[in-house]
Amino acid sequence: MSSVIVIGAGQAAASFCAKFRTLDHRTPLTIYGDEPEIPYQRPPLSKKYATGDMARSQLYLRPEAWYVDQNIELNTSVKVTCIDRAKREVHLSDGTTAQWSKLMIATGSKVRELPNSVTNNLSGLHYIRTLEDANKFGDVLRKGRRIVIIGGGYIGLEAAAVCAQKGMKVTLVEAGLRILQRVACRETSEWFKRLHSEEGVDIKEGVGLSHFEGQGGKLTRAVLNDKSVIDAEVAVVGIGILPSTELAEECGLAVENGIIVNGVCQTNDLDIYAAGDCAVSDYKGILTRLESVPNAIDQATIAGTHAATGAAPNYVAKPWFWSDQFDVKLQIAGLNRGYTSVVTRAGKTSRSIAHFYYNGEKLLAIDAMNAPSVYMIGKRLLEAGKTILPEHAADVDFNLKSLM
Ligand SMILES: Cc1cc2nc3c(=O)[nH]c(=O)nc-3n(C[C@H](O)[C@H](O)[C@H](O)COP(=O)(O)OP(=O)(O)OC[C@H]3O[C@@H](n4cnc5c(N)ncnc54)[C@H](O)[C@@H]3O)c2cc1C
Repeated sequence: MSSVIVIGAGQAAASFCAKFRTLDHRTPLTIYGDEPEIPYQRPPLSKKYATGDMARSQLYLRPEAWYVDQNIELNTSVKVTCIDRAKREVHLSDGTTAQWSKLMIATGSKVRELPNSVTNNLSGLHYIRTLEDANKFGDVLRKGRRIVIIGGGYIGLEAAAVCAQKGMKVTLVEAGLRILQRVACRETSEWFKRLHSEEGVDIKEGVGLSHFEGQGGKLTRAVLNDKSVIDAEVAVVGIGILPSTELAEECGLAVENGIIVNGVCQTNDLDIYAAGDCAVSDYKGILTRLESVPNAIDQATIAGTHAATGAAPNYVAKPWFWSDQFDVKLQIAGLNRGYTSVVTRAGKTSRSIAHFYYNGEKLLAIDAMNAPSVYMIGKRLLEAGKTILPEHAADVDFNLKSLM
């Protein structure tokens, strides 16, 4: 008898199941997730949930009853420990096995952790990946407390914003030459650095963490590579993520910084699909892993369609992303890979601006800060394969809508 198993109970898993069930009501569909939670959204964990502006119940992607209504067997706190491709079964952490005829790997990613030689096993150190992490982080946010944040990517900057809004004394340490170096242009980095400075966050760039020190097992300070010291009782580490690909590797699937999937999200074993943070697929000729909710939803929807019907349109990534820091919403359309120049379009206020990334005259991507209409128009044009001439992008009097 055919049956479908989904490994992981996150964003991609929920989207896969929703799509699959609209097309196939009968095939047994089972999810195994190693967290104690039903599928939930992670973005608020470093944003509204952390500031207390969003309730825990609002995080869940679907109510628990939905899985029952849809005849989806949802198992939480059960880890898949092995995929046996020959026997078409998975081994579970409770010692049992389960059969599948189609398998969906939606294992997401895990945080890159600092080694014990750096953390010295001190308490007071936080990562933000799971709801459990976010709850522990939320418990330490207290006015007047000193916090050091290691890593100036989106998670680190969002955590810094939350802490500053809570009245904490925040220092952010970025080992690279500038914050957001991996993902954004110098102009966007500088813009966010100024925003954070205005809000009282002290950003140190170009200097890495040497190690943490403490007393009685509790963190008291961070020592940087230049020997300077930051006193802090709390630290957040946001130094990137790694795709969760161990199961795939161990069972011989093709993996290269992610599980390699084709246009319909099949792995090199055509009965096994993968989607979301753990998967890597072709984007403009380069194997690309997109760490975002929209990508997880789109890939999983295609995988769900294909698993249910045997056919689906090829996945064409339409990258977009967002971040909330203080009163600024950053919206990113496109992928800036390979840009050669950046054009700035001034905003209506000091907290509004847009940066357009070009390769020659070809528009690649846009970072829009509190500029939702620029973002929306740019996204549509990018998705239609159109460009905006650099002189039009820079000219605030030029109506971008006229290009639609
Ligand atoms: C704090 C934070 C803020 C973010 N902000 C944004 C944002 O603003 N915008 C945006 O687009 N994206 C954001 N992201 C990224 C986004 O949440 C991810 O890209 C998305 O969740 C990926 O979905 P996924 O299903 O691939 O993985 P996940 O949602 O991570 O789900 C994977 C699940 O699989 C489980 N799992 C792994 N291995 C096993 C196993 N062997 N057995 C059983 N279960 C297993 C994991 O524990 C996890 O629960 C953020 C992420 C974090 C952590």
